[in-house]
Amino acid sequence: MDTQFVGSDAVADALEAMRKALGDDAVLTARADLDEFRDPFYVLGSAENDVSAAVMPTCVEEVQAVVRIASAHGVPLWTVSTGRNYGYGGAAPRVPGSILVNLSKMNRVLEINEELGYAVVEPGVRWFDLCEALEASGGKWWSSIPDLGWGSVVGNSLEYGRGHTRIGSHAENVAGMEVVLPNGELMRTGMGAMTGNKAWHAYPFGFGPMVDGLFFQSNLGIVTRIGWRLMPRPEKYASCWVHFDGDDIIVPVIDAMRDLMLDETINNYPFLGRGVAANTEGQPDLDPKSEKWALRFALYGYDEIVEAKWKIVERVLGSIPGVTLGRKMFDGTDRVGPQEGIHDDKVQAGIPGMELLDLYKVPFGPDTGHLDFSPVGPLIGSEVLKMVRLVRGMYEEFGEPYAAGMMLLPRSILVVSVMFFDPKDAEKTKKIYENYDPMLQRIAAEGYGLYRAHIFKMDAVAATFDFNDHAYLRFVETVKDAVDPNGILQAGKQGIWPKSLRGKAKS
Ligand code: ADP
Repeated sequence: MDTQFVGSDAVADALEAMRKALGDDAVLTARADLDEFRDPFYVLGSAENDVSAAVMPTCVEEVQAVVRIASAHGVPLWTVSTGRNYGYGGAAPRVPGSILVNLSKMNRVLEINEELGYAVVEPGVRWFDLCEALEASGGKWWSSIPDLGWGSVVGNSLEYGRGHTRIGSHAENVAGMEVVLPNGELMRTGMGAMTGNKAWHAYPFGFGPMVDGLFFQSNLGIVTRIGWRLMPRPEKYASCWVHFDGDDIIVPVIDAMRDLMLDETINNYPFLGRGVAANTEGQPDLDPKSEKWALRFALYGYDEIVEAKWKIVERVLGSIPGVTLGRKMFDGTDRVGPQEGIHDDKVQAGIPGMELLDLYKVPFGPDTGHLDFSPVGPLIGSEVLKMVRLVRGMYEEFGEPYAAGMMLLPRSILVVSVMFFDPKDAEKTKKIYENYDPMLQRIAAEGYGLYRAHIFKMDAVAATFDFNDHAYLRFVETVKDAVDPNGILQAGKQGIWPKSLRGKAKS
């Protein structure tokens, strides 16, 4: 990788200008301060993708100033909200020597709309912060959350992150954005494009083409606020489980789940796991030879509705041979149960925690790292089984334990698997990253693409999206060149490079 930006005069000049604009405290350059922005899930102590500095703006005007300065000096920026994107690079930039724009100090919950059920948040707002604010304002609304509460609502949603409630498709929950463009200009999307519009965060569209999508997994802007949809706290919540042994039962279970999700009997986003990722009843299953699978889902609503839905679930899933079913009932108005309960009960009730981090430390102790392999497939039982066998076969070939954590949507599934390693072991860690490449090639050859990738793998994954000689990439590059001609924002993100670096970056 080109490291021309490390220690360059342009970076030094830009940092000087940023200090003047934001104050000395807002610009971090001491090595000890910057170490925390390294990817904790790569070779421990590796300086390979270090940032030159980190700037910590506290408001939109400061973000605009940073962008304008970077543009004037032609230096690359890399933006994170809270930088907890572990498994995909953490806060580390694609281009070494980039200046990190860390938005964790922009952490205000700007609004909770109690009538319409949405919140408006800045990028530094963590799941913990949002949920605390919702509780403090009366607890009428639940947020969806991902597995770990320390990340940001904005960062996770922009990466197509997922949660486990009824509104767990986080990118779809974003309702109206504010964005700093690469020229430093401020833009609002949807109805927000009209000054003073009253339905900015209530109506999903605008007047003309919808541009919100351009800012997901993107390097076209820095998002400084979003509207975020909430769900009403249900009267009753059932945390439900399906257990079965052996891969073959995946087929009827997935097909039944699809029917139950499409007719909205089950309307959360269920999770299917095995190995350390299947935290059944709070106990990780660490036996690499284990055949145990666990599927988790939830039912929400008035008492009568949850009871009626459970009867249907029992009829449909309970009739599959080899399957056992279970549920725990919680009163939606009394959060004490799930709060003290296990991770699986909490995440489906939108209660943020950190339990999964502890679970993921089991394989190699506190430093355990993981690299996630995340292909998307259609929600058809036979297809899911095929993907599981393909991926599992590769883990066996590489001599790695297979831990799967799959996320179901009504028509598709993320067949996420997790490669654990000890980042203190440089050789093994590098081997894990090498194993990823043949996995990617084989899964792409079968017609499956990845939904997300580590910074080191972004080019390789982008190359698999190859229809009509990479027409998609060429289109996005055209947009990139038009809106960011100096190529300052998030160079190389998702394999999208500015003109100045295109074809020059070595992986
Ligand atoms: P989290 O801490 O919630 O896991 P991060 O802050 O690490 O999320 O962000 C994940 C990725 O999303 C970043 O690497 C970056 O590419 C993108 N991103 C995060 N915040 C923004 C933002 N405010 N504007 C544009 N892109 C962002």
